[in-house]
Amino acid sequence: MTEVLNQLFIGGAWVDAADGTTMPVDDPATGEILCHVADAGPKDARLAEEAAVQAQAEWARTAPRARSEILRRAYELIIERTDELAHLMTAEMGKPLAEARGEVAYAAEFFRWFSEEAVRIDGGCGTLPDGRNRMLLSRRPVGPCLLITPWNFPLAMGTRKIGPAIAAGCTMILKPAPQTPLSSLALAGILKEAGLPDGVLNVVTTSRAGEVCEPLLRGGRIRKLSFTGSTGVGRILLAQCADTVVRTSMELGGNAPFIVFDDADLDVAVDGAMVAKMRNMGEACTAANRFFVHRSVAEEFGRRLAERMGALVVGPGTRDGVDVGPLIDATGRAKVAELVADAVERGARVLVGGRTPEGPGCFYPPTVLADVDPGSRLMDTEIFGPVAAILTFDDEDEVLRRANDTPWGLVGYVFTQGLDRGLRVSESLEVGMVGLNTGLVSNPAAPFGGVKQSGLGREGGRVGIDEFLEYQYLAVPVR
Ligand code: ADP
Repeated sequence: MTEVLNQLFIGGAWVDAADGTTMPVDDPATGEILCHVADAGPKDARLAEEAAVQAQAEWARTAPRARSEILRRAYELIIERTDELAHLMTAEMGKPLAEARGEVAYAAEFFRWFSEEAVRIDGGCGTLPDGRNRMLLSRRPVGPCLLITPWNFPLAMGTRKIGPAIAAGCTMILKPAPQTPLSSLALAGILKEAGLPDGVLNVVTTSRAGEVCEPLLRGGRIRKLSFTGSTGVGRILLAQCADTVVRTSMELGGNAPFIVFDDADLDVAVDGAMVAKMRNMGEACTAANRFFVHRSVAEEFGRRLAERMGALVVGPGTRDGVDVGPLIDATGRAKVAELVADAVERGARVLVGGRTPEGPGCFYPPTVLADVDPGSRLMDTEIFGPVAAILTFDDEDEVLRRANDTPWGLVGYVFTQGLDRGLRVSESLEVGMVGLNTGLVSNPAAPFGGVKQSGLGREGGRVGIDEFLEYQYLAVPVR
């Protein structure tokens, strides 16, 4: 691996935290410290804010084609360095190298997509109903942004926000999760190399998220927050944004239902379940959290899923042939184990897995639970681990009611061979995205986001850039 970047990136320069503080980055596969990175405080946040604010006007004037070319170059650099970035991500986050390589490609794709969108920002002109007044519409960058990302997709959550912000002409401060700062710092290095002007992107790594972010959101100079993380933290940040009326995009938690009807192709459903559950070891807001399976196929589905889950190889993400890496940290693993214990106490049958292994690293085995009691805690908690909880249902209305009986609404998965039923059920789910006979919905070209307490706004797709743009309407009377 080439040199690991471990300082703050402010105004185009690599700098230590003002008070010299650093924080450790752990390898979840061993529990050992990988390296230390700068641990920013409020003073560093002010410097990053100043850099972003100073760079904004000129960046907004920069030709869309120039912004587009920077993203395109960065896309190419990311692809060129796939292996290096994948190793970095596996080291700090734990996912198997094959998945990390997949994420590098996914992450790069946001830059390619938004390099294409940067030159298609539209405006408009028209005549008002009185036939006399004209309106000219132009679109402006919203201004300096704060981007807060989680640890589960260390690279892609960054590019999904940075890509549209650059394309729209916004400057920004990126605050990555403290568990996974290295991928974001590497990304900043790549963007600098791709020609991004100083101050457009600033990266502050910190273990003191609240102390760093709150003054920025309350300060009146940051005009936009784009956040991906838990609903609990999202609520706190929305309250902070309210005082200064900061625009927000919020990608919050999920509690995805995965519905298998009696007319589903079970091979397709089990394949879908493996992806919807096991992508990223289940550490995804899109992860299937509640499996509702029609009573007549539940036994067979559970048996087949348990067989597939039981065949997965658990181990360090860097080892050849490993399918399932460690969970992010001891707290994450303890939460998964507690949720399983609670379900088992309420009568769930363990078809496979369910035991925390001894030894170093935050490993947890792929687990399938059948006959889960609807009152179990994992029904209304994001499991964020490799645990499939199966419940049965008898009819369509009942399963829809139960699937929608949650404050979240990010994604749902529906498996049926009936076209009518597939569309009817998908359209009745209170979610922002549906996988119909597929366990994977995420794609840079599609709008990603949720309804209800899963969030506000969309990322990716044609609309992803809108989150970073404001309309300006110019009224022109023609006399
Ligand atoms: P998770 O439980 O998956 O770690 P969080 O919502 O806690 O999800 O974290 C998502 C991101 O939000 C991380 O970058 C984290 O550092 C950040 N974060 C957590 N608390 C705050 C806060 N009070 N203010 C700003 N950012 C925060």
